[in-house]
Amino acid sequence: QLAKTFNYMAEEIIKSEQIKRDFIANVSHELRTPITFISGVFQGIVDNKITEITELKKFAYIGLDKIANMSRLIQDLLDLSRIEAKSFELQKTKIDLNETIRRILAHIEPKLTEKQIELQVFIPDQSLWIYADSFRIEQVLNNLLENAIKYTPQNGMIQIKEFYLDNKVKVEITDNGKGISEADLPFVFERFYKADKARTPGTSGTGLGLAIVKSIVEAHGGEVSVKSKLNHGSTFSFTLPIWKNLTGN
Ligand code: ADP
Repeated sequence: QLAKTFNYMAEEIIKSEQIKRDFIANVSHELRTPITFISGVFQGIVDNKITEITELKKFAYIGLDKIANMSRLIQDLLDLSRIEAKSFELQKTKIDLNETIRRILAHIEPKLTEKQIELQVFIPDQSLWIYADSFRIEQVLNNLLENAIKYTPQNGMIQIKEFYLDNKVKVEITDNGKGISEADLPFVFERFYKADKARTPGTSGTGLGLAIVKSIVEAHGGEVSVKSKLNHGSTFSFTLPIWKNLTGN
């Protein structure tokens, strides 16, 4: 029995070491690629290979885009490490989840309009009180909605719904976008996992968004889940405990 336990522990340590190695390799790759591009541009200027201002501007645009991606990656990494640290403390207060949802929806409105995506909202007008870190809950909603927009083509549709289960609230975000294959589905909440290996233009991301969502939701005592069908769409959902004493209805 002892040997079995020991073997199990050894396997767990090896597994976590492997995850750590993959993680470092991923970050290094994600940072090295844009740096190589940007130093290539600078080298081109120094060597007088890039002389035209229009050409220079073209490369500068691409460079700025890559720098923005790197900044996002660094921000996501910092967020993830903070959230996963044992010392992570949520700044919990009593907040109105429905008001938070409406605020985030107003904020992403321009992106929906740009892609002509129809948004259907099934969120009651009344308040729904939860005890949560407002900034982090906004981050969860933002990440899920931005993904829904990113992976849904022009003229698509996104729905946001709310359900009540005992003392929990469940928020569901459904899109009729590209969907996720059965093979990829179990891994989408893992750090750096990208189902879209081809990296369709305009769908660049850090692969950390859903890992952040999962960490935040679980830190609040909730759960995340996903259902999806390739080429049909996806439903991402999360639950959160309802603030019992204050629901009043
Ligand atoms: P990314 O920064 O790549 O979007 P995420 O962690 O947010 O990273 O998502 C991980 C992967 O899950 C994405 O690369 C994408 O393949 C898939 N995915 C996430 N949301 C959706 C969605 N709404 N529809 C289809 N695929 C999705």
